[in-house]
Amino acid sequence: MELPRKILIGEGVVSEVGSLIKSLDTVATAVAVVTGPIVRARAGHECDSSLEKASLNISWHIVSDASLATVTRLQEKIASRLPDFVIGFGGGRSVDVAKMTAFKIGRPFLSVPTSASHDGISSPFVSVRGTDKPHSVKANTPIGVIADTHLMSQAPPRLFASGCGDLVAKITAVKDWELARDEKGEYFGSYAANLAYMSAKIILEESGRLKRRSQFSIRTVVEALISAGVAACIAGSSRPCSGAEHLFSHAVEYVGGPCHGLHGERVGLGTIMMAKLHGFDWEKIAETLENVGAPTKAKQIGLTEENVVKALTTAQSLRPDRYTILSKVKLNKKSAHSLAKSVKVI
Ligand SMILES: [Zn+2]
Repeated sequence: MELPRKILIGEGVVSEVGSLIKSLDTVATAVAVVTGPIVRARAGHECDSSLEKASLNISWHIVSDASLATVTRLQEKIASRLPDFVIGFGGGRSVDVAKMTAFKIGRPFLSVPTSASHDGISSPFVSVRGTDKPHSVKANTPIGVIADTHLMSQAPPRLFASGCGDLVAKITAVKDWELARDEKGEYFGSYAANLAYMSAKIILEESGRLKRRSQFSIRTVVEALISAGVAACIAGSSRPCSGAEHLFSHAVEYVGGPCHGLHGERVGLGTIMMAKLHGFDWEKIAETLENVGAPTKAKQIGLTEENVVKALTTAQSLRPDRYTILSKVKLNKKSAHSLAKSVKVI
């Protein structure tokens, strides 16, 4: 079991990135920071000055997508002088590219997310396009996580709502895992499942308060996301965090392209539909998503009825080995359409 060694959450903690690296490795001299253009301009100087203060040589690498080609390019760029740490500083793309690159070059990865948008900030799992797998794959667990709630409060509200979508998904992910235990005899880790479930439950219970996006809200959501990521570390698989609702999201990317919504937005829609199939209170899920400003209808993220039906009917085939509610309830065009209609996703 591999867990993050240090986790810092709070206002302004990005200024501690340099000292945290030195506390993990006193002889570290060089770091590679992977980020996006907006984050570099908005908050790069704070990260810079903290790393400089710790006498670390910094190389910045701006990435604009999370693809295997980008990872390979970055790997080639830093091959002549490998850094002691790779830092993912930014949103999902930067964190994913940094995590995958660190894994490939065998260096520790430090996660410094600037938005509370998904649980990959603390898990070993990564989604990059261009691999032979249309779902997330395992890399290394971040050695540390620095979640600056001040930086996160400045991120677009849509990213926060997306993080809530990725959290409610743990309801159906855990239900799928229970189903696989009951029907296929799959190993089920109660502790990991409960931890993931709890991170969803807090969003269901607090969504009315969370929508104000106060420091309190951001802290609650980021703690829940980190806990969910840790649940995946404990389970040693993405099982507690990712079920049929994630397969739906991957299938949407597959049939509609990556431009249709953010990860947590697609996953949130998937959760509404999978909750109905599981006999869970799907209206509560939809109400929660609406409360935090996340989409509950496919058209809000530019998806057509046809996209949704295609994604629902192909989702399970993207990962046949992962037993979910979609393995049990085999949807055809007609039943997929009526499911999406019945929960008002289309
Ligand atoms: Zn997710």
